[in-house]
Amino acid sequence: MTASAIEIRQFDAIVIGGGGAGLRAALQLADSGLKVAVLTKVFPTRSHTVAAQGGIAAALGNLGEDNWHWHMYDTIKGSDYLGDQDAIEFMCKNAAEVIYELEHFGMPFDRLANGKIFQRPFGGMTQSFGAELVERTCAVADRTGHAMLHTLYQRNIQLNTQFFVEWFALDLIRDAEGDVLGVTALEIESGNVVAFHAKATLFATGGAGRIFHGSTNAFINTGDGLGMAARANIPLQDMEFWQFHPTCVAGAGVLITEGARGEGGYLVNNQGERFMQRYAPTAKDLASRDVVARAIATEIKQGRGVGADGQAVFLKLDHLTEAVIQARLPGIRDIARNFANVDPVFEPIPIAPSAHYMMGGIPTNLHGQVVDQDDTGQNKVVPGFYAIGECACVSVHGANRLGSNSLLDLMVFGRAAGNHIVKTVRYQCHKPLPADYAERTLTRLARLEQQHSGASVTEVGADMRKTMQTHCGVFRFPELMEQGVEKILQVYQRAGNLQIKDKSQVFNTARIEALELENLLEVAKATMLAANARQESRGAHCREDYPARDDVQWLKHSLFYSKDNRLQYKPVRLQPLTVETFPLNTRTY
Ligand SMILES: Cc1cc2nc3c(=O)[nH]c(=O)nc-3n(C[C@H](O)[C@H](O)[C@H](O)COP(=O)(O)OP(=O)(O)OC[C@H]3O[C@@H](n4cnc5c(N)ncnc54)[C@H](O)[C@@H]3O)c2cc1C
Repeated sequence: MTASAIEIRQFDAIVIGGGGAGLRAALQLADSGLKVAVLTKVFPTRSHTVAAQGGIAAALGNLGEDNWHWHMYDTIKGSDYLGDQDAIEFMCKNAAEVIYELEHFGMPFDRLANGKIFQRPFGGMTQSFGAELVERTCAVADRTGHAMLHTLYQRNIQLNTQFFVEWFALDLIRDAEGDVLGVTALEIESGNVVAFHAKATLFATGGAGRIFHGSTNAFINTGDGLGMAARANIPLQDMEFWQFHPTCVAGAGVLITEGARGEGGYLVNNQGERFMQRYAPTAKDLASRDVVARAIATEIKQGRGVGADGQAVFLKLDHLTEAVIQARLPGIRDIARNFANVDPVFEPIPIAPSAHYMMGGIPTNLHGQVVDQDDTGQNKVVPGFYAIGECACVSVHGANRLGSNSLLDLMVFGRAAGNHIVKTVRYQCHKPLPADYAERTLTRLARLEQQHSGASVTEVGADMRKTMQTHCGVFRFPELMEQGVEKILQVYQRAGNLQIKDKSQVFNTARIEALELENLLEVAKATMLAANARQESRGAHCREDYPARDDVQWLKHSLFYSKDNRLQYKPVRLQPLTVETFPLNTRTY
């Protein structure tokens, strides 16, 4: 296929991704009268947002005093001071409004007896700047993401949003000046490749947890947006920071929501001891996730694990009563029965930490505009390009995200980016596409087609996942990371000649798997190299050889450029929008 054979479709704005972030942004766009398309590789309501269990944070104060300033403090402390304080203020201040919007869209929140929205405690969410735990997380039983995604999808249908379902975005189109003018995409059913030419291109492509062997993420979470950005010479920010969720079914990796501990569940080791009291005397089982994951990993390492191989600890819920479990955690009961063969009403669930959430991503400002740096280290907006949700790094989660802050991030920045696009593109003309707009894509596709003796997608994928799991996990060791860098660069190289076996017999899904692996490898490489370079422990990045946080050398964001494997750094924005800076402090729970 040559570039001239590729059909071009023109829109004012295109959104890549139909998860919570993409659908929230699409609502603003659909309402504006602009010509908008939402592309998604799976049916929108199958996006990973559907799997979110525990809830969405907002200081509504429905069960006790609360305010956004406390939420802001908790988020900054949770981020281990790497989060940008202006973005965190913006998110926490707008939280109540986006929740009430969702309520008015029809989201069926659980209710209190007085009719107000139900809220539960979550890790690191406190009253009065850390004094005690607060109920801040709004929930729909343990299926909050499901309710949210279906509500947003139905609202989009009402507004006639135009969806391109089962379309796979392949590459960004950038012109010589660096402006983003759309994407190339493949219709999965037919194999047709089309260029989507747009004044604004918004990425909402979600996470990439599939770089690890053990992960709570769906198989579709392959970091496609990050891969596309990296290939177009756009940096990836703070990729060394990955959250490992403390409570996942041992051996299976399926998530047991933090809401289970929010409802009163707690962890015990093989002595029956509530060990979190030793690691976090105040917040105990509801300390921040990085703290709890490290505590569990330490208990296991020191021989106090449970199960035949000692590679788990127990999550106890049986004291909560069947009525509470059935009302607030029905999905967890199903998961425990199906994946651990235990009924939590009567027995504890064996759990272990698993990769869960990517704090890093494509760097953006408060409007979702993608921000690169120029040669002198000054920030510069990439014209026409936006990113929101888990694929973006604005950065509100810094070195560690607090549970229930991601769904909030999707809503606040989805709305903000949608509003900014509406304001910006209305009176703009389309910039012409460069002559080579489809070249990168066509070269990649042709290489996959022509390869006869290349590497197998399954083998390269398994090597990547094993490398990341062994060399870049909850605890990070210097020699292991050095080896990890070498290994991942080799795996990356091998992926340069991936082969699709039996080409005559396969559907486009085999092609998609190869393309997804290329994207995953961009994420894995950025993660491994950025982790090896950061010589401190902060939030989820915990090094054996540098156990302390080092604010003198390392209070800065990393930016990784794939082309020459280059790392650059930029300062953390410590100045909030309207309130005073929260000064750096030691982080204990
Ligand atoms: C099991 C689980 C439970 C969680 N629970 C909570 C919780 O209770 N509270 C909370 O705050 N957070 C939770 N999180 C985190 C949160 O759910 C996610 O961070 C968030 O839902 C991501 O939303 P998103 O819109 O960015 O991406 P997603 O919902 O992952 O959507 C990505 C979209 O991009 C599309 N896409 C991707 N690549 C392409 C491509 N190449 N071409 C076209 N389309 C593409 C996909 O089709 C999909 O529509 C949880 C995460 C997991 C995994």
